[in-house]
Formats: sequence, C-alpha cells, structure tokens
Amino acid sequence: MKTIESYNFKNKKAIIRVDFNVPLDKEYNVTDDSRIVAAIPTIMKIISDGGSVILMSHLGRPKDGPEYKYSLRHIINHLSKVLGQNVKFAEDCIGKEAEELSASLKPGEVLLLENLRFHKEEEKGDEGFSKKLASLADVYVNDAFGTAHRAHASTTIIAKFFPNDKMFGFLIAKELEGIDKVLNNIKKPFTAIIGGAKVSSKIEILNNLLDKADNIIIGGGMMFTFVKARGGKIGSSLVEDDFLQVAIDIEEKARKLGVNIFIPQDVIIADSFSNDAKFKTAVADSIDEGWMGLDIGEKSIKELSGVIEKSNTLLWNGPMGVFEMSNFAAGTKAIAEAIVKSTARGAFSLIGGGDSVAAINQLNLSDQVSFVSTGGGAMLEYLEGKVLPGIQAIID
Ligand code: AMP
Repeated sequence: MKTIESYNFKNKKAIIRVDFNVPLDKEYNVTDDSRIVAAIPTIMKIISDGGSVILMSHLGRPKDGPEYKYSLRHIINHLSKVLGQNVKFAEDCIGKEAEELSASLKPGEVLLLENLRFHKEEEKGDEGFSKKLASLADVYVNDAFGTAHRAHASTTIIAKFFPNDKMFGFLIAKELEGIDKVLNNIKKPFTAIIGGAKVSSKIEILNNLLDKADNIIIGGGMMFTFVKARGGKIGSSLVEDDFLQVAIDIEEKARKLGVNIFIPQDVIIADSFSNDAKFKTAVADSIDEGWMGLDIGEKSIKELSGVIEKSNTLLWNGPMGVFEMSNFAAGTKAIAEAIVKSTARGAFSLIGGGDSVAAINQLNLSDQVSFVSTGGGAMLEYLEGKVLPGIQAIID
C-alpha cells in the first residue's frame, strides 16, 4: 500500500477527498475552521513535492441539486487565508469547467471543486460519476475520516480508478493509528464511557465493548433506559421503551463475561428541558413524574471518576448530560477532567464522536487527552469491528 509520506507527487495532480463540512454563520463566514486546518499537512506535502491539488468535499445535506447556502464557494477566502495562497474554484465538481481548470493546473496550485452532494450520484456511489471525478487527476488521496464509513462516489468508488496511485492522507492515517492503539494494545483496566441521547444508536458499540472492556460506564440520556429496565422509576426522563430488553440483555451478557457496568446512582433532575428549569439532585431510580434526569449527580461523579482514574485505557463517546445547557454540564466536565487526570498518569485516552469532541473542545482539554477522533459514526463503526468501505477501498 502506498503512503502519502513516501509518494513523490512531482508533476502529479492529486485529487483529495477532504472533509470541509464546516459550520457557517448567517453571512456564510466559517465559524470553526478546524477541519480546514486539519487538511493542511496533506495539501502542503503534495505542493512541496511539486504537485498540484484538487480538493473535493461535501457541505451540509443539500436535498435536490445545488443550493446556495451549501456552496463551497463560501469557504474559498478562508481556505486561501489558511493556505497562504489563492485557491481556484470550479462551480461544478464535474463537467467542462472542472476539466479545463484541472487540466491547466500548474505545480503548486490548488483547485477547489463545488459541493459533491449537489449531484445525487455522490451518495449513491455512482460509478460513472466517480469516473468523471477520477478523470481530473493522476492520484487519489482520501483524507476524510468522517465519511469513510460511507460507500460514496468520492470516498470509496473512485479508488478503483487509481489501482496503483491511491492512499490515505495524514489525517486518516493518524485516525487509524489512534483507534488501532485502543483496539490492539489495550492496557487493562480498560474503561469505556458511553453517553449521549440514545441506546439505539450505541447498541453495537456496547456489544462490541463487552468482549474488550473491564468497565462500561453508561451515562447521558441513554442511562434511563437501563434504569427503567432494572425496574426503576425515571419520571419523564428520556427513554426508549423498545430497547428495555436490549438493556437487560447487555447487562446479562456483562455479568456472564465479568464486565462491570456502572449506571450513575444519582442524577440532576429538572422540571422541564431547559436551562431555566428548576433542578435538584435525586436518586436515579426514584424520579417523580414531571421531572427528568439531565445530568449525573455528585455521588456518581465521585464514584465514576474513581473508576476512570484507576484505568489504563479509556474510550469516551457521548456526553454524561445535556452539556449544552450550563446547569447540566457539570457531569460531563467532571468526567472529562477525570480522563485528563488519568491520561497525565499514563493512561491512553481516546475521545470520539461529535458531541464528546465538542464537549472536550468547549472545555479546552483536547490537548490533554491522548487522541481525539474527528469521525463520529465512522469511529464507532470502526470500533465495532466493521470494515469501513472508504478504508477497504484504499487497502484493496
Ligand atoms: P449522541 O449524539 O447520542 O451522543 O447524543 C448527544 C446528545 O445527548 C447531546 O446533545 C446531549 O444534550 C444529549 N443528552 C445527554 N444527556 C441527556 C439527558 N439526560 N437527557 C436528554 N438528552 C441528553
């Protein structure tokens, strides 16, 4: 398999699948450019070798063809500034203009293609569309981990047109290295902290972790499905009644395998889903009707921090409470701090999934954990042991 480090891009045109799905404000300014900044090392390697770069990405979820608000033209200025050079732009990712611009691209130059998802063929993984994209370049580089679990045209299908000239960019290579470290070199005790809203979206990861983890901490909204399944009273807390049996089965399997499952004993309950709601501490399995659990309580924080601080490998996906609201952010913050403390002592910590990444960034702690994975769904699927099509397409 070729790697970006050893490949010589001199006089080559490289088409890179990047993830420039960045947040924009009402005036279409980029409000968080971390995804753009993250792509720079791969772009710079190609340029400094004497190659040229064609960038392709999606932005948002356009429904039916081009939509101005999802145009990648909004990021041209920002990208040019971060790169320190002008960026050319093709108003359609395929067709005459894209072909002419890429044909006339000189070494060192950068061309950005318009949003791939303006064509339905992108998400369908259409071969003809992939071929047109492929015709623009000599080399294919995939550096978008967040979409590596999708068999889309630009993330997977396109690779077949570059049998000898396809590789991962620095970002994906780093992601795989970080996650593989957890999967293959687990130093025990291994504790997984799984939170967030729904059990339904985390069943496979929970099942997969049962074979590997010593401790599984379950927090966030999904804990209440477990509390209810155990026979507790959860008031108006978030619950997925269709998954009560799943929760029972997970606990049963954990018992058989000797995995400790930790469900917070106390929670912060509120009388509505709002930061202005009245709130107080309650025992997690005796919540009155009209009250809902929105964060974990002091006692739980203490108990769970103790487990985290004694662990040597940590995986964190999903917040412990509604951390977006300041009154219900303490649990998530305390858990993040415990992970940081454990990391400082020598544990390996992997943080992944959109909301835990947002939480760790909001707390300014991302440089104090071992690895922060950018891919939410992709990271979960990789950890579940699934073969990601975007990864497979490069390895094949
Ligand atoms: P997920 O995408 O499944 O990781 O869920 C993240 C979301 O779960 C965040 O937006 C949190 O606000 C939300 N969340 C966490 N704890 C709770 C809770 N106790 N009740 C309702 N929502 C929650």
